[in-house]
Amino acid sequence: MSEDILVNVTPQETRVALVLQGAVQELHVERTLSRGMAGNIYLGKVVRVLPGMQSAFVDIGLERAAFLHVADIWDARSNESPPSSPTPIERMLYDGQSVTVQVIKDPIGTKGARLSTQISIAGRMLVYLPQESHIGISQRIENEVEREILREKVQKLILPEEKGGFIIRTMAEDASDADLQSDVEYLRKTWANILQQAKTKPAPALLYQDLDLAQRVMRDFVNDETASIQVDSRENYLKLQQFAELYTPSLLPKLAHYPGERPLFDLYGVEEEIQRALGRRVDLKSGGYLIVDQTEAMTTIDVNTGSFVNGRNFDDTIFKTNLEASHAIARQLRLRNLGGIMILDFIDMENAEHKSAVLNELNRALARDRTKVSVSGFSALGLVEMTRKRTRESLAHILCEPCPACSGKGQVKTARTICYEILRELTREAKQFNPREFRILASQVVIDMFLEEESQHLAMLGAFLGKPISLQVETVYHQEQYDVILM
Ligand SMILES: [Zn+2]
Repeated sequence: MSEDILVNVTPQETRVALVLQGAVQELHVERTLSRGMAGNIYLGKVVRVLPGMQSAFVDIGLERAAFLHVADIWDARSNESPPSSPTPIERMLYDGQSVTVQVIKDPIGTKGARLSTQISIAGRMLVYLPQESHIGISQRIENEVEREILREKVQKLILPEEKGGFIIRTMAEDASDADLQSDVEYLRKTWANILQQAKTKPAPALLYQDLDLAQRVMRDFVNDETASIQVDSRENYLKLQQFAELYTPSLLPKLAHYPGERPLFDLYGVEEEIQRALGRRVDLKSGGYLIVDQTEAMTTIDVNTGSFVNGRNFDDTIFKTNLEASHAIARQLRLRNLGGIMILDFIDMENAEHKSAVLNELNRALARDRTKVSVSGFSALGLVEMTRKRTRESLAHILCEPCPACSGKGQVKTARTICYEILRELTREAKQFNPREFRILASQVVIDMFLEEESQHLAMLGAFLGKPISLQVETVYHQEQYDVILM
């Protein structure tokens, strides 16, 4: 089975779609504005050492000088035991000195960026610490045996004469030796490149920036099944070509520039797929459908049959719908990049064989997932619990915000409910104040209801209060929003 990777680049964002046999499997979006500077490595120039504060200001080419505290200066002696007393900053740095620094905190407002001279470079599965020599493992990999196996695997990849330490990230849990090997090579090449630039560039200069989404595609997404990587921007195609020449030369033949008139994402139906991946309902070919609900705590996916189920083939229809749903669920989890706990509510099945067949189908469909998943059996209530590791933010979190009209509840009060709220509010205000007139400011639908179906109730209240009530449409108000003004 061959996979195509589509890369759509504009100045404001980069979007990537993985397409397998015409069906979009994964979507990734990175907004240029949300890319911070943390992780960037610069050749900085010390502007001023402040012994009193045990810190220094360093020019890294930004408007404001960045800040370096003595505690963030890498000191070879800190590994000595017993630990020696810390070296004062004025004995390590001097004005005008060039130093290789990494941003550990983005600049905020008037505060400059915060720096460290302890360098770390993140790969896909490993973090490289060029100044260190040990191998550390993420706390989140809990299994002791697994930790030991991983440590040995990485240890084997390091030649005795090579310097530098590594931290094994959780992503490495299921990594093959080849995966780890390519990560080690990538990180060493990156570091060599940084050192080379630091020697030749005048300070201040940017030496390294965390990979952007398009570059990560080249490093992380491509495998033997990848048939092509199509990039719709010539400029970025050339940049990726350069990147591939340096780090992933075997991919060069797969990399292509898409020069077409028609937008690349339209051509493959990706835009439509993005819209669908943001909706609650996913239609199945059999006539059934899924309802996907994403909340803070978990995601629930409810499987439903179509409107009509034939009585004679009842069990069979349900079984087939659940089988189809298994595939749709696996695909939606990847597309939407949902992480954490999921509760799957398949249509109830009596037949134990059907149940286990549906579970098998689900596991088979999930096997394509790059992200780690674990699936339980059917619970006493007939639900399947599963978890999917949280990696990036979900698609909905990147592209959406809670609806202002319903604050994320997914429902808004009806226009009639709002009309009655307003009538109560009028009564309340009339008890407190004595205006000449009341004016209702509300959305078009609410005002329309007052003019038509609810006109009588409004007139009755007006007569009861003995005051005129006028209506005004506020086009920017959403359905639940209104104001009662005293004139
Ligand atoms: Zn809403």
